[in-house]
Amino acid sequence: MARGAAPLSEVVALVAAEMVAEVCSIYVVRPGEILELAATHGLNPAAVGRTRLQVGEGIVGLVAATGTTLNLPDAQNHPAFVYRPETGEEPFASMLSVPVRRAGRLRGVLTVQNRLPRRYGELEVETVETVAMLIAEALAAAGAGEASEEGAGGAMPRRFVASTLAPGLVLGPVVVHGGVRQPARLLADDPAAELARLERAVAAMQAEIDALIEGGLPPGEAPREVLEAYRLVAADAGWLRRVREAVRGGLSAEAAIHRIAEEVHERMRRIADPHLRERGADIEDMAGRLLGSLAGETAPEPVPPGAILLARRLGPADLLAWQARGIAGLAVEEASPAGHAAILARALGLPALGGARGMTAAAEAGAPAILDADQGLLILRPESEVAEAYARAASARAARRADYALLRERPTATRDGVGVRLMLNVGLAFELDQLAATGADGIGLYRTEIAMLARGAITDVADQEAVYAGVLDRAEGRPVLFRTLDLGGDKMLPGAEVAAEENPAMGWRSIRVGLDRPALLRRQLRALLLAARGRPLSIMFPMIATAAEFRAARAILRAEEARVPRPPARLAVGCMVEVPALLFQLEALAPEADFLSVGSNDLMQFLFAADRANAQIAGRYDFLSAPVFAALERLLVAGTALGKPVSLCGEAAARPLDALALVGLGFRTLSMSASAILPVKALLAEVDLAGFAALLAEVRRADLGAGEMRETLEAWAREQGLPL
Ligand code: PEP
Ligand code: MG
Repeated sequence: MARGAAPLSEVVALVAAEMVAEVCSIYVVRPGEILELAATHGLNPAAVGRTRLQVGEGIVGLVAATGTTLNLPDAQNHPAFVYRPETGEEPFASMLSVPVRRAGRLRGVLTVQNRLPRRYGELEVETVETVAMLIAEALAAAGAGEASEEGAGGAMPRRFVASTLAPGLVLGPVVVHGGVRQPARLLADDPAAELARLERAVAAMQAEIDALIEGGLPPGEAPREVLEAYRLVAADAGWLRRVREAVRGGLSAEAAIHRIAEEVHERMRRIADPHLRERGADIEDMAGRLLGSLAGETAPEPVPPGAILLARRLGPADLLAWQARGIAGLAVEEASPAGHAAILARALGLPALGGARGMTAAAEAGAPAILDADQGLLILRPESEVAEAYARAASARAARRADYALLRERPTATRDGVGVRLMLNVGLAFELDQLAATGADGIGLYRTEIAMLARGAITDVADQEAVYAGVLDRAEGRPVLFRTLDLGGDKMLPGAEVAAEENPAMGWRSIRVGLDRPALLRRQLRALLLAARGRPLSIMFPMIATAAEFRAARAILRAEEARVPRPPARLAVGCMVEVPALLFQLEALAPEADFLSVGSNDLMQFLFAADRANAQIAGRYDFLSAPVFAALERLLVAGTALGKPVSLCGEAAARPLDALALVGLGFRTLSMSASAILPVKALLAEVDLAGFAALLAEVRRADLGAGEMRETLEAWAREQGLPL
């Protein structure tokens, strides 16, 4: 059983007593779609571990196969009933059987039986369903039903490939985020008193969140947008009303909170939109807070130095609370790079990984681990040689960071004097602090949708204008490339009903939405033009697939420009190159665009037909490869011929070796996340570009296999003693 949870044998006895039932049993899913009797109160105890049913066999198997509760007054005459003599179940007529599911996955079946024929009441069904959720949580924590895939605990090293949410390297002991703890008491005798208990906890939680926003934010200008959105969820009457109703129905406050949180999570899980899924994590985070407050918990203890937090899901307030306790990094199973956990982790400078399942189930608190957020890797219980190699890398990196401080003020150039512009990718206002912190040359990609996603709404023109004007003020004359909304598909359009799509990344998203619903695009463009207040302005359009789309988008912009009272001193209109088809329309496109910016994240996924969000194929295709460089060269040639600057703003630019290769190919402007600026600058400063470009040309000519281009360039860089 899970850490701290009651054994299943106690759970069944407890449920049988609560329900005044003669029998309560739990069947657990075993590999091969088998349901094994794991605990029983009332059936023959010798049948435990022996009675096994195929999913689909018998009433229990039917419940498992359909995932629906069966409430049967006369179970033995149900067509699915099968008789197992070893259980001794002849005399029981009525049966309530509910699936034990977690995160959409069947973990087992919980049944209650009575001698006399009867239909179980609504409250009884609810109670058993609530218990089933608790059991699911406990089984998941113990790794049941996934033993063959993921295993649980153990002393062997385990590696998890995940997405980078925030870069960095941490070595330290694991701490595990508990999620929603299990209630000790399911039912309350006095619903009115229970409701009063709940209201006190809700008021305390809301005060805690207010205090966090007012006073507890991290240094620098903190990610207020995220916390404000969180506060709105905390005040949302919908889920709290359902908790109150469940308490009025007789559940304890703890059981009601748990039940609604799990329901919300189940619903959110089925939604592709990562932003909406975040709401589920927020509610779970709040449920955890409410339960803590009901249990009368006091301030949590600090964690050991270098602690790495593992969590299934993590809401923003919990992340801040863990940060206050001193974690050095985190890995969250259900987190995406655009989600709250990622945004906050980057803002707090905490290395973070997301999107790999099974990490928390495979870890135990205190186990040594390596969080290599640069390479998207979590290693639990590493082999000693691996741990030593990482420890060396970490201390070399710390020494290098001290040197970086000196680099900040110097312009970026290669050793042989070729100047390069390094710009920042940002999405929230507070990230502009990084301009000064890194000495970046400007903002090469301002993702306008991020602030709206954090807020959960598309804001009006005046509001947007204020945000964009603030960005330009803070940039103090440095260039800012605003990208128009890249929403839709898997990024929610707040307030809009969007049909589910099979392939949202290739669906109705981004500029496609902007051109089909021009009012939205027009409002944003007007806000940008007004925000410029006569200053120079650069705007680029994402996901353009045809020259005609770019022309149409630019025409809308020009029309808006004609309407504003004080147009920008200079309006540069750029096209993002993210769809491979554009590479074959450069003759038509390049003369019309003022600049081109490669979105390497999307370009890679479409060039190789490899979903960028799918951890299973992450790393399968390498950016440092002949097809990618052939595509980029084509762009550079077309841009140079027409005097149109070509830059690159995807994740590739944030990897020093890849950035160097881009400069070797001819790029002179790269845009990247803040943490990459100084490492890339340090590398470029030590490279003789002429020599490197010759090597790159040679490597590109050679017919190299997967990963060999990277290996060759890396070996050369190491030979030269370059800081990779
Ligand atoms: C890209 O695709 O590389 C890019 C910069 O845009 P985003 O990551 O926001 O899709
Ligand atoms: Mg993109």
